[in-house]
Amino acid sequence: MTLVGHYWVTIEKERCRSWQQPWKCGACIDACERGVFARDEKGRVFIANELACVGCRICMEKGCPNSCIYVRAVTPEIISKGIWTVQTVEEIHKKAETGEYEIRGYGTMGSIPHFDGLVVVPSQLASRPPKDKYRENFQYEVVIGQETCTNPIKLRYPFVFAAMSYGAISREGKMALSVAAAKLGILANTGEGGMFPGEALLAHGYSDEESYRKGIKKWNPGGYLAVQFSTGRWGVSVDYLRSGDAIEIKIGQGAKPGMGGHLLGDKVTQDIARIRGLPVGTDALSPCRHYDMSNPKDLAKLVEILRDLTNYEKPILIKLGPSRPYDDARIAAEAGVDAISIDGMVGGTGASPEVVTQHAGIPTIACIRQAAKALKDLGLKKKVKLIALGGIRDGADAFKAIALGADAVGFGAAAEIALGCRACMMCHKGACHYGLATQETRFRACIDIESASNRLVNFIHACAEEFKTLAMLSGHDCLETISPEDLRAIDLNTAAITGVKLAGLEKAFPSTWETFDY
Ligand code: SF4
Ligand code: SF4
Repeated sequence: MTLVGHYWVTIEKERCRSWQQPWKCGACIDACERGVFARDEKGRVFIANELACVGCRICMEKGCPNSCIYVRAVTPEIISKGIWTVQTVEEIHKKAETGEYEIRGYGTMGSIPHFDGLVVVPSQLASRPPKDKYRENFQYEVVIGQETCTNPIKLRYPFVFAAMSYGAISREGKMALSVAAAKLGILANTGEGGMFPGEALLAHGYSDEESYRKGIKKWNPGGYLAVQFSTGRWGVSVDYLRSGDAIEIKIGQGAKPGMGGHLLGDKVTQDIARIRGLPVGTDALSPCRHYDMSNPKDLAKLVEILRDLTNYEKPILIKLGPSRPYDDARIAAEAGVDAISIDGMVGGTGASPEVVTQHAGIPTIACIRQAAKALKDLGLKKKVKLIALGGIRDGADAFKAIALGADAVGFGAAAEIALGCRACMMCHKGACHYGLATQETRFRACIDIESASNRLVNFIHACAEEFKTLAMLSGHDCLETISPEDLRAIDLNTAAITGVKLAGLEKAFPSTWETFDY
């Protein structure tokens, strides 16, 4: 189901220009990519499809100049009507009329077990005493590739930006991510669309080639850029692979595991077509797997080739979708990667069949501990870093992910929201009013790189402080000592899928989790 709730959308007709002067205005029709508004035969705007509203309120913010649109959430019909809601009926009618299934952007909607089912255990007498957040330091640094590479990545915070391709989002959106990574000393990621000129320089803190040659950084301390090696091989060349600070082999992603990539032709402009090496306006469909990799030995060979290619200087990462986290992480670690990103089910995307986003994958919280256990069982928990992705919203989610066994977390949708996104789920249409999931000049113009990157930096700093608050109240001054013992599950479901002790019971549930040990 596309719809996550029900919204009343009303127009105050007494003040609406189109009702006073028919055929005038109509800004809300342009603002709403979901087609909620239309004009009647007399030129007046009316609510044509209230059911399509997802409550993003872009129409209120970017549309009506007279502020005469109101969007209010109402009780989901599913509570009173069960599974045959009006949306379900409408959806069936639509499929019956068109024979087409739904494609949309963003991540899984609805009730999926998530970090909210976990709480942090503060220290009192029976556990480590709390640290003083205001007077003591916290050691945030995470190093990737320390034992294997001459140029390991040293993240100043246990945070990265999730991969987002140039194509799925605008060049300005990508630039803001790179510049924010430089200001924070963390890792940005090209995603699967190749690299636009200057992307790595921005992530390193240089505004252009000349300032790089002169050694004058604009943004300190400078960050890192991972170049993605995906199934579509868009923009992949030896130069590309050597120009990043790490190579990420993409196997899958949270929003569409097992599906490959999907960039609709409307967003394939001349520049994107040139970088990806395909005709303008063509759908960019990445295969669901690497055709030259059919078993774990092939993966190990690829890791070795990439290490050779980069002269053993740069970390090799792998990105997995949410499938069989224990076995997948074990195979990846045995293949010799330096870090494993595991993207849980609620991870976002620019475009995906809705049936996949809603129904395929494993919740993020169920992936992390299994993947961490695989690394522990192999004796690689310190050497191979685990990065948790998929629905990380704030410092609390980050703390809980790290307590479950991750070494760092990735911000994807939350980073986009910090840049202005309103979660309207229409990224695939390419008409994002906030200049992110679009290639249209008129929308892109609304992103100012400096202020957009500052918003991201502010957001990450706030998350880092939230993280530190929770870490220190539970007795930690570094990442290494944080563990599942710092968490309790507040419902049976969360306890069962994470193995975290159930609050009040003080035991793992079911008891087979008791044998889990870090
Ligand atoms: S989908 Fe968004 S823009 Fe469209 S009516 Fe609803 S809140 Fe407004
Ligand atoms: S990036 Fe833009 S189009 Fe996509 S969900 Fe956010 S506001 Fe909507």
